[in-house]
Amino acid sequence: MNLLKYLQAQGIASRKSCQWLIKNQLIEINGEIWDNEKAEIQPDNVQTLVINGEDAVIIPLPYYYILLNKPKDYETSHKPRDYPSVFTLFPEHLRATDIQAIGRLDADTTGVLLITNDGQFNHKMTSPKHKVAKIYRVTLKHAADHELCNTLKTGVLLHDDNETIAAEHAELRDEHTLILTIVEGKYHQVKRMVAAAGNRVEALHRERFGDWDTQDLEAGEWRFIQPDNSLTGK
Ligand code: URA
Repeated sequence: MNLLKYLQAQGIASRKSCQWLIKNQLIEINGEIWDNEKAEIQPDNVQTLVINGEDAVIIPLPYYYILLNKPKDYETSHKPRDYPSVFTLFPEHLRATDIQAIGRLDADTTGVLLITNDGQFNHKMTSPKHKVAKIYRVTLKHAADHELCNTLKTGVLLHDDNETIAAEHAELRDEHTLILTIVEGKYHQVKRMVAAAGNRVEALHRERFGDWDTQDLEAGEWRFIQPDNSLTGK
């Protein structure tokens, strides 16, 4: 995270005051003056923090694990282009801890989005090695039968990709509703797989990611979760 965010997360002063302290070379970390608010800092490597000549108590930053039921028309980005950022749904003190989304959902996709500032959890949930399942409910443009499921489970060649990719599981809830399980997180993966299988995604909702679903959350609501310690950097 950058220096300004780190100081804010320490709760030492307002954003403006932190900027002033940095600009006036009044922040010393591990014996060195830090005067660039954008400088990257590893909170775990901070041994001493001196603010305006006074030793400060260093508060180890807690890790946050958040489950959001992502609403439609929000972007999974800190720098959105067309819609508001999903991060605007969280209070400022959480945004200051450098929380990141674990993989992206498209602006028009709804459902489970996990958010954390724990890099290890993020990595374990997304690395292909760990094969964490993501279950999507796909509304299809064209009525489908079991042929579509078979094609997706056998594997399809994605446009602009040279490897086939197969669904872990695919079944129809009705002729326009496909339940698709995948373990990778390729760009627009579900839309591209369904297109490669000859249909088209009209709407997309992620029902589950690993152990988490959004059954108790309305669109736009979120809550803290407690992942198993084996998945986290704690
Ligand atoms: N696959 C997609 O095509 N879009 C998403 O948002 C998620 C998975």
